[in-house]
Amino acid sequence: MTRKLFVTTALPYANGPFHIGHIMEYIQADIWVRLQRMLGHEVNFVCADDAHGAPIMIAAEQAGKTPQQFVAEVAAGRKPTLDGFHISFDHWHSTDAPENHALARDIYLALRANDLIDVRTIEQFYDPDKGMFLPDRFIKGECPNCGAKDQYGDNCEVCGAVYQPTELKNPTSALTGATPVLRSSEHFFFRLSDPRCVAYLEQWTQDGKLQPEVANKVREWFKPGEDGKALLGDWDISRDAPYFGIEIPDAPGKYFYVWLDAPIGYLASLVAWFAKQGRDVDAYLADPALEQIHFIGKDIVTFHTLFWPATLHFSGRKAPDRVWVHGHLTVSGAKMSKSRGTGISPLRYLELGLNAEWLRYYIAAKLNARVEDLDFNPEDFVARVNSDLVGKYVNIASRAAGFLAKRFGGELSGDVGVEGRALLDGVRAHADTVRELYDEREYGKALREVMLLADRVNEYVDRTKPWELAKQPGMDAALHDVCTVCIEAFRVLTIYLAPVLPALAARVEAFLRIGPLAWADAQRALGRHRIGEYRHLMQRADAAQLDALFEPAAAAPPADTPALPGGEAIAAEIGIADFAKVDLRIARIVAAARVEGSTKLLRLALDVGEGRLRNVFSGIASAHAPEALIGRLTVLAANLAPRKMKFGVSEGMILSAGHADAKAHPGLYLLEPGAGATPGMRLH
Ligand SMILES: [Zn+2]
Repeated sequence: MTRKLFVTTALPYANGPFHIGHIMEYIQADIWVRLQRMLGHEVNFVCADDAHGAPIMIAAEQAGKTPQQFVAEVAAGRKPTLDGFHISFDHWHSTDAPENHALARDIYLALRANDLIDVRTIEQFYDPDKGMFLPDRFIKGECPNCGAKDQYGDNCEVCGAVYQPTELKNPTSALTGATPVLRSSEHFFFRLSDPRCVAYLEQWTQDGKLQPEVANKVREWFKPGEDGKALLGDWDISRDAPYFGIEIPDAPGKYFYVWLDAPIGYLASLVAWFAKQGRDVDAYLADPALEQIHFIGKDIVTFHTLFWPATLHFSGRKAPDRVWVHGHLTVSGAKMSKSRGTGISPLRYLELGLNAEWLRYYIAAKLNARVEDLDFNPEDFVARVNSDLVGKYVNIASRAAGFLAKRFGGELSGDVGVEGRALLDGVRAHADTVRELYDEREYGKALREVMLLADRVNEYVDRTKPWELAKQPGMDAALHDVCTVCIEAFRVLTIYLAPVLPALAARVEAFLRIGPLAWADAQRALGRHRIGEYRHLMQRADAAQLDALFEPAAAAPPADTPALPGGEAIAAEIGIADFAKVDLRIARIVAAARVEGSTKLLRLALDVGEGRLRNVFSGIASAHAPEALIGRLTVLAANLAPRKMKFGVSEGMILSAGHADAKAHPGLYLLEPGAGATPGMRLH
């Protein structure tokens, strides 16, 4: 029976480019989705930018942009990265799109009609200088438990205590430094403590939709605490203006808290995708056979296993069928940290020309169905890619393809003999096991299974020695059979690996001159079929490339140095002679264009008064539209050694300013000279 699958990944917050955690989750979901498509099931795989909330509003303001402009610029960088990692979303949307505004209002009105919305007056910190209520993360002070300074309004990073912002000692506004004052305001609450909600969620969370460890953890929300009340209380779903979000019906100046409308974005994205195809989304969602599946990280379990199913169910909608939680990514055993230089930037990964399928394979090899953290270890990465993927699997094709082309015109033999048939039957017999392991998200086990089969094929090659058969007269038929067995086995293994390695599978399809691979094709033989010319299918990974990936973005300041507003300590002292070595020149930007295959880089043609133009690649695409740069003056470090990049040679570097922590403080500012400066002038 054909399964109907509505699949999502968590929505990335639209305050910056993807980080490696997003890509890991997309890879996990994409593998699962690609398997289902290969099985002939009907999948709609969607995601969206999570566009609302105070952090985006404030970041946009700091960058001198409207929140809409700010999130649009972030959104513009999404597709190249998704394509770069072969993530096959059917549709990508935004929670600020009209579909989401309409759905959020409808859902809220249904909850209100169901008598599940309360309005209560609460006291909250207010920044009198800024004129706004402060989100917890924008209040700092001393921890009420251990006294640690400079802690956020919701929890202490030193002792781990969780508290209300009003409990902080000596609170200050992180926005203005002002002392916040308490003000009362009306807030809207979703009454999750209502017995109907409690009964529904106790059932929903414990009936097999969640992984056992997740269900166990969520169960604690229903147990009475020290005060006799369950942890699951009513949920504050409103925020006061100014706020970038969706205004609450009949409540001017009140907005939905971003976590109310963010998951609704899953539905909005589906609605937009169906509209684009002219399909009826209501009929689709009403189909009892439809499975709604969310892939998420362990940090957002509460929102997806309590608030989200209750929001859907009590507004008269279909609740999720599965919420699948994964752990976080660590690097060489440490939590990722940009300042320590252990973060992996997906953009940098692609810009360095590392093969996206190496990462897909490596992550898949380490993933299982449990909520476990996954460690990225560079040595392990190189070893697995080179010894398993290239050494065991790709090698099979390269060992056989040359003989087939040279000796048999690329044609496979029709019958392969007893030993060959036995080997192929053995490889084909694992199709169900591999499929089940993928379907259960036990990707590591699935790939181990495939590599064991690859070992068997390589043992067969070692035993039958085609390179010796090729030298012996009269052994043509035997050589033909062995090479045919290799290619057939390689094709079946490619089917087993295709959910993980879609681009490689496409190259294999071209090489073998076959149509798109379906799972069922594992059971069929190609027969007397003529294959194409073999071209190298995958390079080996190089440890030096991974070293470049881990170059620290910026040296972390020593612990005793006070942080500067730019987030970076002043560099070590140098003499005037050192400074004089750097030849800084005024340059005019004569042409500027985006670089295909890079979301970060612009290609600039610069006039530095030399009678020729310089070609410079600059990582400022996120902050500047190329058209807006043409004609402007800036400063070029003109005597830097030319640097060969993936896209060409860069002859120097232009200067721009930015915060050391670009994720928290996006914005990049081109340096411009005062009026009257002309190209070629040197800076002194
Ligand atoms: Zn503390």
